[in-house]
Amino acid sequence: MDSKLTKIGQGSGPTVVYSASADKEKAKCSVCKEQVNDGVECEICEHWFHTPCADLSKTTMKALEEDKSLHWYCDGCRKGVVATWKRLKERQDELKEKMGSILKEVEGIEKTQT
Ligand SMILES: [Zn+2]
Ligand SMILES: [Zn+2]
Repeated sequence: MDSKLTKIGQGSGPTVVYSASADKEKAKCSVCKEQVNDGVECEICEHWFHTPCADLSKTTMKALEEDKSLHWYCDGCRKGVVATWKRLKERQDELKEKMGSILKEVEGIEKTQT
């Protein structure tokens, strides 16, 4: 699995293009500022990137096209995503702990009732 790809449940996946189309005429690569004919759009900031500019291989592009649960974010956004995930994970662990103690309490109540 390419480390640049993120798998989060079922999503629509990023927009991947191989040839220029009318509505993509204004799409400029965020790295080299040239028009994007073959490239990928970041799902967060909606900026376009050439595959080589985004350091994406043909294999990765193909995977993105075929598996819609794969996501691709540009370098800048990926940093943000990772930070958000870390915070979410911490929250999840907290909640799990709370749930655990609540369950123990409930079990205790049930035992005293019987
Ligand atoms: Zn470029
Ligand atoms: Zn981005």
